[in-house]
Amino acid sequence: METERKTLDDRSRMTELERIRHSCAHVMATAILRLWPDAQFAYGPPVENGFYYDVDLSHRISPDDFEKIEAEMKKEIKANHTFEKIVVDRDQAVKDAQSGRLGALSERPNNPSKFKLDLLNQIPAGEPISYYKNGDFIDLCAGPHVMRTGNIGAFKLTTVASAYYKGDEKNPQLQRIYGTAFKNKTELEAYFKMLEEAKRRDHRKIGAEMGLYVIDTEYVGPGLPLWLPKGAAIAEELEKLAKETEFAAGYVRVKTPHIAKEKLYLTSGHLPLLYVESMFPPMELKESAEAQVAERYYLKAMNCPHHHRIFAAEPRSYRDLPLRLAEYGTNYRYEQSGELFGLMRVRSLNMNDAHIYCTPEQFAQEFNSVNEMYLKYFKIFGIEKYVMRFSTHDPARLGQKFVNEPELWKQTEDMVRNVLQKSGINYKEIPNEAAFYGPKIDVQVWSVIGREFTLATNQVDFAVPRRFGLVYRDKDNTEKTPLCIHRAPLGTHERFIGFLIEHYAGNFPLWLAPEQVRVLTVGDDEALISYAKLIVQELRASMVRAEGDYSADKINGKIQQAELAKVHTMLVVGARDMQAGAVSVRLHGKGNVGARPKAEVISDILQSIKERKS
Ligand SMILES: [Zn+2]
Ligand SMILES: [Zn+2]
Repeated sequence: METERKTLDDRSRMTELERIRHSCAHVMATAILRLWPDAQFAYGPPVENGFYYDVDLSHRISPDDFEKIEAEMKKEIKANHTFEKIVVDRDQAVKDAQSGRLGALSERPNNPSKFKLDLLNQIPAGEPISYYKNGDFIDLCAGPHVMRTGNIGAFKLTTVASAYYKGDEKNPQLQRIYGTAFKNKTELEAYFKMLEEAKRRDHRKIGAEMGLYVIDTEYVGPGLPLWLPKGAAIAEELEKLAKETEFAAGYVRVKTPHIAKEKLYLTSGHLPLLYVESMFPPMELKESAEAQVAERYYLKAMNCPHHHRIFAAEPRSYRDLPLRLAEYGTNYRYEQSGELFGLMRVRSLNMNDAHIYCTPEQFAQEFNSVNEMYLKYFKIFGIEKYVMRFSTHDPARLGQKFVNEPELWKQTEDMVRNVLQKSGINYKEIPNEAAFYGPKIDVQVWSVIGREFTLATNQVDFAVPRRFGLVYRDKDNTEKTPLCIHRAPLGTHERFIGFLIEHYAGNFPLWLAPEQVRVLTVGDDEALISYAKLIVQELRASMVRAEGDYSADKINGKIQQAELAKVHTMLVVGARDMQAGAVSVRLHGKGNVGARPKAEVISDILQSIKERKS
């Protein structure tokens, strides 16, 4: 959230790259002021792939201005000014803001630093107030920065957008200038090359070309993808993988409705306040004409509350635990229309969900198995780079952002940390970002071209089972509350398939390919067509998504069409192949790999699918 200030603690953890980028925002402000001395600056934080600075200025900055801004920035970097920290008291800071000196190159008596004045008011009493000065530019900032402007290795301005001050539309609209910076030119160039490749692999573009999904905003609604047969085939394969893996790991499957009464979410704590903005508005329903009050029903935004009621549906003993309830549940979340983005940000989500109810003694083993399941999936999909971000609570915010259970926080965080350390998994600990009800792990993966995605979350919950009054009877015959692990290693179909499209550039491995095999005849001789049809039938009998192209068109044209459709394996059959009981195999993007006996080829295809070879 934009209005949520970074704490000093957050700032102390800024990485070197974030420092470079944030420092570059100061340099950009310096340059903009050289060109437009009236500019008023608001927020200028580092962001995921760079930085921005919000500016209020009558001139509308466009990408045409970037060159001259960048030229001024280069001068500032070349001058190699130090970022000098100046600690001041509040009265001095207010005076300087009123004289227009903050976020400026000099005093501007008729132009007070209005946003900086407002930001000053947000600094809690007792927290030190500091400026950072580079050359003539002085900014209200808690840092940190790099030592000198010359430490900014390479940078580039990227876009300009508009943004309300503090994200609130009642506030003035500002211009948000984005840029990025890196340690050196090589890294900067690699980044833009990666973006170029990501554009080529854009899941919306490839999704449309391959006919995987459509979003019918007019009749169905924005953010509600319709899976076309080819996209559904991929989703079904992913579900099959999840079901097999979870079955082997001792999960049981459940199914729950898409709506539930308000009471369910009041009990879970998602309503009235915590999650209400992410839920669709309720439906009101009277059970009879005489009924005095209408019941409110909500579309489910998460599966957990339903699963908790399944846990509660029968008496549970310690012998029943761990109980692992799995469901590819469909959730509906309200996202603002401006936030919707292809398959990546949607309003209906098919989630690879499960909730594991266990005793504290079982926790480490269960949690470790979940992590191992992630690693197994990474291997199948050729995901080589990943990190698990382990988010913990902040003791200072117990009872506000985090449920007030200091002992349970400590216990569960220690358990999670132990599991992560022992397993040797690549993880990073991030304080103050846990979920309300327990520590969580966000799993980030990198696609083959090096773009980062947040795929899934893995959470420990020690609070909500209690709210639902969930209990099991323990060995000592007392009732105890189970711990709950929320996990969704394949995330949602929407986001995961969006990721896979980019990862594979649409060239899916055989097991995932929407059209796995196409049999192409050389000519339309009747005997040849019969031979080809038999092959298609044999493949389809083994659930292989195989099609035939028996037209009289030239074989080269038929191959070209199959290539365009990204069909994984093409089996070309001519008169000579037929006589020999063979087929000529072509692989998408790789070309002809030679003629082989039909039975052998079919058996290889089945084997490759079964093993989910990459
Ligand atoms: Zn700063
Ligand atoms: Zn859950």
